[in-house]
Amino acid sequence: MQQRIKIQLGVRVTAINREQQCVLFSDGARVGYQRLLIATGSRVRRFSGLVDEGVKLHYVRTIADARALREVLAPGVRVAVLGGGFIGLEVAASAVSRGCAVTVIEPASRLLPRSIPAEVGAFMLGLYRRHGVDMQLDTTPLAINRHPPERWSRLIAAKCLQTW
Ligand SMILES: Cc1cc2nc3c(=O)[nH]c(=O)nc-3n(C[C@H](O)[C@H](O)[C@H](O)COP(=O)(O)OP(=O)(O)OC[C@H]3O[C@@H](n4cnc5c(N)ncnc54)[C@H](O)[C@@H]3O)c2cc1C
Repeated sequence: MQQRIKIQLGVRVTAINREQQCVLFSDGARVGYQRLLIATGSRVRRFSGLVDEGVKLHYVRTIADARALREVLAPGVRVAVLGGGFIGLEVAASAVSRGCAVTVIEPASRLLPRSIPAEVGAFMLGLYRRHGVDMQLDTTPLAINRHPPERWSRLIAAKCLQTW
């Protein structure tokens, strides 16, 4: 059956004109619509707290990101993973299997709270802990320091995790 789907490659949508119900393309063309679905994906959520200069911070989104991370995951390296979602847990599993000492820091009180039932989250928590991953739940990172702070009382957070 004819699907009546037109694919346009090599162009970006640069603007949406809602009054005229059309989208504008990077090559100057425009296409009208009655209903518009925006499915442009998502971006990596960057850490909003202070990050000391010199901290080796990796965001994992693309294959290039994953390859760059793989380069630094060596036995004995201490790794802090911010976020106990699917990607964070996959990174933690890879790092621990490469002999790294891994801490996962997750603001929620359990793993994968948006995507799996509590029982499965509890199972995952036990599984990762049995593999030696230090799981810090109910913990929101506020800053990433290159070195431990000079005076512990200067910390805003209730705890400071020394992960590297
Ligand atoms: C590291 C990592 C691992 C993952 N692993 C898994 C996994 O194992 N299993 C799983 O199910 N999911 C996985 N996911 C999630 C999965 O990749 C996403 O859920 C999925 O790609 C989202 O699809 P999408 O169509 O919303 O966005 P995308 O796949 O990002 O597609 C968006 C598209 O929009 C295009 N676009 C952007 N801006 C414009 C514009 N202005 N004009 C025109 N086009 C534009 C982009 O070029 C792109 O082609 C993973 C994600 C990451 C980052």
